[in-house]
Amino acid sequence: MNTQTYSKKLLKHFRNPKFVKKVRNPDAIGEVGNLKCGDVMRMQIKVADGKIKDIGFQTFGCPAAVASSDMVCELAKGKTLEEAKKFTNDDVVKELGGMPLVKIHCSVLGIQALRKAIEDYERKNRSKS
Ligand SMILES: [Zn+2]
Repeated sequence: MNTQTYSKKLLKHFRNPKFVKKVRNPDAIGEVGNLKCGDVMRMQIKVADGKIKDIGFQTFGCPAAVASSDMVCELAKGKTLEEAKKFTNDDVVKELGGMPLVKIHCSVLGIQALRKAIEDYERKNRSKS
């Protein structure tokens, strides 16, 4: 796997991310940051029947952070919360065709934000019942 440069696939996701958007009436939000490059990630999810019906993110991030989050959204959309929780950052990096090792710490933001959003959702739904 490529560990030196950004892959073509990664750059494509960085330039044309499909999931940079606001979700209407999101059920949960996950926010994480990384002080090293100043990346900030905010992910919103909409859940129906235990599945992620809609997902989107906003970020001030470097190419690795943007592309990984876009890939996380692509992987998570339509999945159940349980399935989405099982994704690892390795899955994301692999899907993107690799990335420079020094950027791995940025790529984890997407998956961390997704997990936080799921936690947020579960916390809110516990308190309701
Ligand atoms: Zn970064």
